[in-house]
Amino acid sequence: FRDRKLIAHIIPFENRRQILVTHDVTESERIDMMRRDFIANASHELRTPLTVINGFLEIASLQPDLDIPTRNAHLKLMSEQGERMQRLVEDMLTLTRLESVDHLLRTEVVNMRGLLEQILQEAEALSAGRHQISLSVEGPDIKGSTDEIRSALTNLVTNAIRYTPQGGRIEICWQSVEQGAKFSVRDNGIGISPEHISRLTERFYRVDKSRSRETQGTGLGLAIVKHVLLRHNAQLFIESTPEVGSVFAVQFPGTVLHQLH
Ligand code: ADP
Repeated sequence: FRDRKLIAHIIPFENRRQILVTHDVTESERIDMMRRDFIANASHELRTPLTVINGFLEIASLQPDLDIPTRNAHLKLMSEQGERMQRLVEDMLTLTRLESVDHLLRTEVVNMRGLLEQILQEAEALSAGRHQISLSVEGPDIKGSTDEIRSALTNLVTNAIRYTPQGGRIEICWQSVEQGAKFSVRDNGIGISPEHISRLTERFYRVDKSRSRETQGTGLGLAIVKHVLLRHNAQLFIESTPEVGSVFAVQFPGTVLHQLH
C-alpha cells in the first residue's frame, strides 16, 4: 500500500464493535488530476487566439478609419485564429466522444484501398507539391469504424507532412503481416529524440510547441490516434531518429481482417 492513498471510515456495528471501511482513492485522484490538467491546457490553448481576436476588435473600434490593406491584414489574422480555435474544439469533442464509455464502436467493412487513396489525395493537397508522397496497398480490408480509422490514419499522415521539410519523402504502406495487417507512414523529416517518444500520445504533449502551432497542430492528434486504436485492439509503434525521420506504424490484429487478398 506504500504508493496508494486510502481513506478509512469507522462504522459502528453491533455490540460496540466497529467496522473499518477503506476506499482506495489513488485511481480517482489520478483521473481528477488528468481532468484538471486537460482543462488547464485547453483553456490556455483557447486563450491565446481569443486574446489576438479581441485585440484586433479593439483596434477596429478605436480606429474606425484604418486603411483597407491594414484592415484586411487584421481580418486575415483574426480568421486564422478563429480557425485554430475551431480545430481545437473539434479535436476536444472527438477525444471526449472516443473516451465516453457509452460511445459504441460501429463496425463495418472498411475499404482500405478506397480510404487510403482518399487520404493520399488529401495529403497531396496539404503538401501542395512540397513533398514526394507514395502509397502502396497490398493488405486486406478490415472490420472497424471507417470514420475513426480515417481520422487516426489521416492524423499520422498529416504529421508526417507537417514535420518533414520541403523536398522530403513520405511513404504510406498497407500490408499483410503474420498476425494481421499493418499500416505505416515513413518520413525523412525532423525526427523525434528518444526521451519524447513515450509521451507523444499524451494530450497536448508536443516536442516543440511553437512549431506545432505554426503547422496548425492542436497537440491532440496522437491522443485521438491512441483512443481509436485502443477501440480497434490495434497497436501503435513509433521509430524515430532526430534529423533522419520517423516511422509511425499501426498493427491491426487478425481478428479484424475482412478477407485476405
Ligand atoms: P500536433 O497537433 O502538435 O502535431 P500530435 O499529437 O499529432 O500533435 O503530435 C504530438 C507531437 O509529436 C507533435 O507536436 C510533434 O512534436 C511530434 N510528432 C508527431 N509526428 C511527428 C513526425 N512525423 N515527425 C516528427 N515529430 C512528430
